[in-house]
Amino acid sequence: MRFVAEALNLSPPAAKRLEAREILTEAFIKHEFFKDVERAYKLDRNFGGFESGTLIAKTADGVKVVRGYPKIRRALVLKAIGKRFRGEVVIEEKMNGYNVRVVMFGKNLYAITRGGYICPYTTEKVRLAFETDFFRDHPNLMLCCEAVGEESPFVPKSVYGIKRLEFFVFDIRDMRTNKPIPIREKVRLSEEYGFKLAPILAEVEASKAHEVAEDVIRELGRKGREGIVVKDLEMKADPLKYTTSEANCSELTYAFRFFNEIGRDFMFSRIIREGLQAFEICRSEEEFRERCERLGRAILAGLLDSIAKVGRGERVGETCRLRFYDLSVLELFKEHMRRTGVKARFSEPVWDGDGYVVEMFREMRATEDRIRDLLRGGLW
Ligand code: ATP
Ligand code: MG
Repeated sequence: MRFVAEALNLSPPAAKRLEAREILTEAFIKHEFFKDVERAYKLDRNFGGFESGTLIAKTADGVKVVRGYPKIRRALVLKAIGKRFRGEVVIEEKMNGYNVRVVMFGKNLYAITRGGYICPYTTEKVRLAFETDFFRDHPNLMLCCEAVGEESPFVPKSVYGIKRLEFFVFDIRDMRTNKPIPIREKVRLSEEYGFKLAPILAEVEASKAHEVAEDVIRELGRKGREGIVVKDLEMKADPLKYTTSEANCSELTYAFRFFNEIGRDFMFSRIIREGLQAFEICRSEEEFRERCERLGRAILAGLLDSIAKVGRGERVGETCRLRFYDLSVLELFKEHMRRTGVKARFSEPVWDGDGYVVEMFREMRATEDRIRDLLRGGLW
């Protein structure tokens, strides 16, 4: 653990606390697939100026620190944009997938998920999606991407029309300092190296941004998309996020489908978001009725879906389709899920001409057992 304390430049007492290990945990499974990494740890909370999710690894290129992706604060009213930014801002689409930092250690790319794990599933896909030229030319930079599509183990979504899993770059940062590069530079590099970007939907004066953002939000909502992230052109001010009513409601459906697994704060916060959005942008009695219907339906549809499943004797849980190009990565990923505490079952892999397709089923036992008991006449 000494290399970790050194890499983070910690004072001796801080290093001691770190060694107590309660915030530092293993970040990967030693395996030939991760051959450039000898040891790797992650921070499970913010510590000494380093974000939660920071990875500290002993690699083929020496000790590397990859900073955690910073938390993005959420606005509940669009007027917040004008209060928090000066000058020009961009409105980017907030894509709904999972956060991945892509870095190169030795001669290979590695995909680090939000908490700081090196993920085998994502690493396999990242190695196919990206060349190594960018990383050779810019050894200090990391790509912060949203991994989006149907074949996603964490956030499977079909709204993007992506059957597999694709990576959309939203930030390019110095992996050691976490300093982001300005928006125009990000666009230029993405063009140069052929990266897909999270769409930049508008560039506008901060004081006028809320009007543009309102139209953008309505349009994204109609398409079932998640929302926006507003960023300073120079990336000097902290970004802000804001989500569509449709996204808030779709998360409510998810939360009520698995009501005994998901914390109540999760549900409560999404309902409050709907209140502020309705206050700020609801324009007519008809729209108000639509919002009521959407919110109510979201909650009841989620609940009913799981109750009906148990009523039919089916399991409650989440299914997704995954694809592996190498069966040893499948085995590694199963172990990865076990170690990250996810209870999942996997079907036998089936070769479909371009990879092995596997169904993963994540059990939601707490909700299932609760509903079964209630249906048998159990009392709340
Ligand atoms: P946070 O701690 O950042 O609030 P969270 O898990 O609650 O994390 P989200 O509500 O999904 O996350 O919002 C932040 C996340 O949005 C980022 O971590 C990133 O993965 C994702 N994202 C999608 N598109 C963008 C974008 N254009 N710019 C920045 N982040 C984006
Ligand atoms: Mg997200």
